[in-house]
Amino acid sequence: MKNFDSYLPIVGEKVIGDIFQKAHRLVNKHIVHINSSSHGGGVAEILNNLIVLVNDIGIDSGWRVLIGPSDFFAVTKKFHNALQGDRINFSKNKKNLYLEINHRFSTFTHLDHDCVIIHDPQPLPLIKSNRKKQPWIWRCHIDLTRPNPKVWDFIKSFVLRYDWIVLSSEKYRKPELPLEQRIIHPSIDPLSLKNMDLTENKIKKTLEKCCIPTDKPLITQVSRFDPWKDPEGVLKVYEKVKEKVDCRLIFCYNMAPDDPEGIKIYNKMERKAKKYLNKGDVLFVLGDNQILVNVLQRISSVIIQKSTREGFGLTVSEAQWKRTPVVASNIGGIPEQVVNQETGFLVEPHDINDCAEKVTTLLQDKKLREEMGNKGREHVKNKFLITRHISDYLSLLIDVFNKY
Ligand code: UDP
Repeated sequence: MKNFDSYLPIVGEKVIGDIFQKAHRLVNKHIVHINSSSHGGGVAEILNNLIVLVNDIGIDSGWRVLIGPSDFFAVTKKFHNALQGDRINFSKNKKNLYLEINHRFSTFTHLDHDCVIIHDPQPLPLIKSNRKKQPWIWRCHIDLTRPNPKVWDFIKSFVLRYDWIVLSSEKYRKPELPLEQRIIHPSIDPLSLKNMDLTENKIKKTLEKCCIPTDKPLITQVSRFDPWKDPEGVLKVYEKVKEKVDCRLIFCYNMAPDDPEGIKIYNKMERKAKKYLNKGDVLFVLGDNQILVNVLQRISSVIIQKSTREGFGLTVSEAQWKRTPVVASNIGGIPEQVVNQETGFLVEPHDINDCAEKVTTLLQDKKLREEMGNKGREHVKNKFLITRHISDYLSLLIDVFNKY
C-alpha cells in the first residue's frame, strides 16, 4: 500500500514538509469529491491517485460516483462536447433527464461534509437539489474557451450557485463570472502502477503476455476512442510516416462508463484501419491494465497525442515522465506540458503533414529522442507531479475555509 512518505526520495524534504504544514491547518475537515466515473479517462485517474494520498496525510476525503442510466451519459457526453464547442440538438428532454438523474442521486447521497467538490458537468446540478450548508467547488476539467452559448448559459445557471471554480489552465478562466477562480494543473503519480519504474524483465514479460511485437519501432496514442482525440488523424499521420520508416502504430484505448461514444468510434476506426490491422501494422490494444500502459508509454519511440481539444491531456506528462518524446497538438492543456522542440514537438491540430514529419524525425534520430526524453522527465518532475498538485489543492482548501 502506497503512503505519502514514499514520495520523499523523489521530491525532497521541503516539498513534503510544506504539504504537512498545510495539512495540519485542515485537520478534522471532511471533504467529498463527486464525479461520474471510477475508471477510464483523466478525472478518474487523478481521483484514484489523489484521494488515497490526501487521506494518508490526515484529511478525510470521500469519493462518490454519480449513478445514472446509459441514456443519461449519452446526454452528458453531448453536453460535454457542446461545452468544448460542438453543435447539439439542445432539447427539453435532454435537460430534463440531466436534472432528474441528478435529483434522484441527491436523494440518497447525503452531503454533510465540510466541503463538496464536484468534477465536470455531469453532477453539476446536485447543488440545486441539496440544502447547501458548506462551500461547494466546481472542478472543471474541460476546455471552456469556446463553449456552445446555449449549453453554457444553461450550465452557468448551476455554476453561479458555487463558491469557487477550479480550472486546468489560465486560458479557461471566465472573467465574466462573479466567482473565485483558481488554476490547478492536473498531475501524474510517479509511484502508481502506470508511472512507476519497471525492470527490463517486467517489460519483457508484459510485452510477451500481451502479444506486443517489438521488431519494428512503435508509435502509440494512449486515449479513449473519442472524436476529440482524432484517431482518424492519427491513422493518416501513420500512413505518411510509414512511407519513410517501417513502423507500427498502436491505439491503446479504454472505455469509460460515462463515455458511450467509445464503442462507435472503435467500430469506425476498425473499418478505417482494416488493411493495417489485418497486416498487424496497426494494433488496437486494450489499455485497462496500468502496467501495460506503462510499458507502451515506455517502449514506444514516439507517443502521439493528436487531440483537437484537450482539457489537459495527462497522457502527455505520463509519456514524458518515462523519457518518451511526444508529438502533440498545440491545443488546450498540451502546450503547458510540452516544451516545443525541447521535450517533444507541438503541431497544429489539423496539420497531418507536419505531425508526420515530426514523428519521422524522431523515429530517425535516436540521440534526439534521448535528449528530448531526458528533458521531458525533468519538466514533468518540476511541474506535473502529484505532490505539487496536492500542495495546490491544500492551499485552495485553506483559502476556501478562510473565506467561507
Ligand atoms: N488511459 C488508460 N488506458 C487506455 C487509455 C487511456 O489507462 O487505454 C488513461 C491514460 O493513461 C490517462 C487517462 O486514461 O491517465 C486519460 O487522461 P487524459 O487526460 O489524457 O484524457 P481524458 O480521457 O481525460 O480526455
